[in-house]
Amino acid sequence: MVTAPPTSFRTDAFDQVVMTTYGRFPIALVRGEGCRVWDDQGRSYLDFVAGIATCTLGHAHPALVETVSRQMQTLHHVSNLYYIPQQGALAQWLVAHSCGDRVFFCNSGAEANEAAIKLARKYAHTVRHIDSPIIITAQASFHGRTLATLTATGQPKYQQHFDPLVPGFAYVPYNDFGALEALVTSLDHPQPQVAAILLEPLQGEGGVRPGDRTYFEQVRQLCTDKGILLIFDEVQVGMGRTGSLWGYETLGVEPDIFTTAKGLAGGIPIGAMIAKDFCAVFQPGDHASTFGGNPLATAAALTVCETLEKENLLQNVRDRGQQLRAGLCQLQAAYPHLIAEVRGWGLINGLELHPDIPLTAAEVVKAAIGEGLLLVPAGPKVVRFVPPLIVSAAEIDMALGAVSRAFGHFVA
Ligand SMILES: *Cc1c(COP(=O)(O)O)cnc(C)c1O
Repeated sequence: MVTAPPTSFRTDAFDQVVMTTYGRFPIALVRGEGCRVWDDQGRSYLDFVAGIATCTLGHAHPALVETVSRQMQTLHHVSNLYYIPQQGALAQWLVAHSCGDRVFFCNSGAEANEAAIKLARKYAHTVRHIDSPIIITAQASFHGRTLATLTATGQPKYQQHFDPLVPGFAYVPYNDFGALEALVTSLDHPQPQVAAILLEPLQGEGGVRPGDRTYFEQVRQLCTDKGILLIFDEVQVGMGRTGSLWGYETLGVEPDIFTTAKGLAGGIPIGAMIAKDFCAVFQPGDHASTFGGNPLATAAALTVCETLEKENLLQNVRDRGQQLRAGLCQLQAAYPHLIAEVRGWGLINGLELHPDIPLTAAEVVKAAIGEGLLLVPAGPKVVRFVPPLIVSAAEIDMALGAVSRAFGHFVA
C-alpha cells in the first residue's frame, strides 16, 4: 500500500486564515482507503469517525469513485430549472424504500430540517388554520446550526449569544411521554397550536441515546389522535447506520416526515426531506435550493443506496455492531470505575465515562489517536463509534485493541 509523502502543511498558517469555529485534533488527513486514513506524515489510522457518520462506504470505494468520476465528466450541475434524471431516480429509490411519498433535496442536515420545519408550518397554517404554530423538540437534541434548526436544538450551549432565536419552538425531556403529553395539552388550550413534534430516533450528538420503543409508540398515537405531524430527524441514524435502513424501522414507528443527510451520498454533500403525500403541501416557489439534488450528488447517493443492497450492508451493520458492543462491554467490565455505560444500535455506539471522574471523552479520543484509531466525542462524557458500514470483523477487533490500549493510559 502506498503512503502519502510528508507535506509542508502547517497548522499555525491554517489557523491564521480559517475562522476558528472548530476545536481540531492536530492531525491533517490526506488519503483514505476503506476504513483506513493516512495523515500528511504517512501515519495510518483506523477510521471509526467516517467523517462523522457520513462515509457510509468508507474511503475511495470503487463504485463511488466510478460514479462520481463519470458524472463529473458528463454533467455535474444544472440547477432545478430543469429535470434531473438522477434526482428522480434517487427519489424513486427513497420512496420505494421508506414510508415517504415525496422528496425535497438540499445539501446538508440542517437544510433538510429547515425544509421540514417550513413544511410543518405551512401545513399548520393552510390545513389546520393555526395562526402561530409551535414545534416541540427534545432536550439534548441536535438538529443543525442555521437559526431555525439551532432553535430546534434543545441545547442552550449551542444557542448562547445567537439570540433572538426563532419563535415557535418548545422543549421536553427525551423519552418522557408524561412530560410531552402535558406540554401538548397546555399548548393546545384554548385552541390547537402544536404543529409538529420533531425527534431523533436515537439522539446522536446529545450522547448516543437510543429512543425508547414504548415512548415512540405513544408519541405516534398522540400525533395521530391530534393531527400533529411527527417528524423524525434521521440525519445521523438514517441510511443503514442502526442496522435498519431508517432509525424509525429500528423503533417500529413511522413518521409523517423525515430528514436524512450525513450518510446519504457517502460523503458528497446532500440532504433530503421526505414526506407522506397528505402533508406534502409545498407548491412551486415555496422552497428551493440552487445546488439541491444536482446530478453529481444524486448520482453518488444512488450508488450508495445500490451498494447498501448489493453488498448486504445492513446485515454487516447488525453483526459488526453486536461484535463492537460485546467488546466494549468487556472493556467496561475491565474498567468499571472509568466506563459507566455502553449503548447504541447497529454501528452507532457510545461509551459513557463515569460522571464522578474527571476523565473526558476528548481525552479518550486523543489517547485513541495515539493508538492509531479515530473516534469522536458526543458531548463531554460520551465517546462515539460510527465506522463506515463496510467495516470488517478484523477491523472491529483492531479498533477494540486500540481503545483498550488507550484506556490503559488512564490507569495508574
Ligand atoms: C449532523 C446532524 C445535523 C446537522 O447536519 P449538517 O449537515 O451539519 O447541517 C442535524 N441533525 C442531526 C441528528 C445530526 O446528527
